[in-house]
Amino acid sequence: MGLNPEEKNLIGSMKRFCYWCGALEAERGPLIGGLCQRCFAEGNRLLRAPAELEVTICGRCGAHLIGKRWHEAGEGDAIADAVRATVLSSLKVARLTDAGIKFLRPHEVPELELRVEPKLTEGVIKIRAHGKVHELQVKPQLEEARVKFSLKRSTCDVCGLKSARHYEAILQVRGKFTRERYSEIRKMLQQLAAEAGKREKAAFIANVKEQREGFDLYVNPASLARRMASMLKSWFRAEIKESAKLVGQTRDGRKKFRFSILARLPSERG
Ligand SMILES: [Zn+2]
Ligand SMILES: [Zn+2]
Repeated sequence: MGLNPEEKNLIGSMKRFCYWCGALEAERGPLIGGLCQRCFAEGNRLLRAPAELEVTICGRCGAHLIGKRWHEAGEGDAIADAVRATVLSSLKVARLTDAGIKFLRPHEVPELELRVEPKLTEGVIKIRAHGKVHELQVKPQLEEARVKFSLKRSTCDVCGLKSARHYEAILQVRGKFTRERYSEIRKMLQQLAAEAGKREKAAFIANVKEQREGFDLYVNPASLARRMASMLKSWFRAEIKESAKLVGQTRDGRKKFRFSILARLPSERG
């Protein structure tokens, strides 16, 4: 008795069944590594999340620490952002191919839907992930995880430099001016530093010292002090002189200098 090709196919596929639960491939969809869709999802977790994690946040500016790097706080709630970023950096997503299993970072898995919901008062983060471990899965699988977290307050590297009044350069502003004129110039320079600080957090004035004929600004980084000096040059025709003093070495062995930049402003009259 002969079977037509369609019948042969049907019988062929009916013979294939899940080695865990016995479900037929014809009923449950394509087997993956010998498992039916349901057993595969049960046996292959999508998400790897730690049970607990520590979220380190700068008590002064709200920056958070991921690995060894500090990240600036954004516009929103600094603690919620820090918790979210920390848990995202700790999550891994499983991906099974013929080459074997790989654990990827969430952003490396394009079709993944991930919801991270920090519950700050409870000290937990709820995570919902929706995605496929294997491309033969008919539907993405849903997984949920709860991660406990604790907050650790610390001081970020920039706030550490600020509180230590660290500086790379001293800008010495000198000239025969009235007090009012000086405070006006000083405000302009502080404004410039504030704008630089928005782009680069490590740009700031560490200290201001009044002098008999002017004032000194202790500035980070040296490039900001140079920008201030060139502004004084173009706006007030200041004469600029820069000198450097070797003060040591950086951790990676480069020479470390402290710069003095003298900006001498011509007298307003005469
Ligand atoms: Zn099964
Ligand atoms: Zn900070």
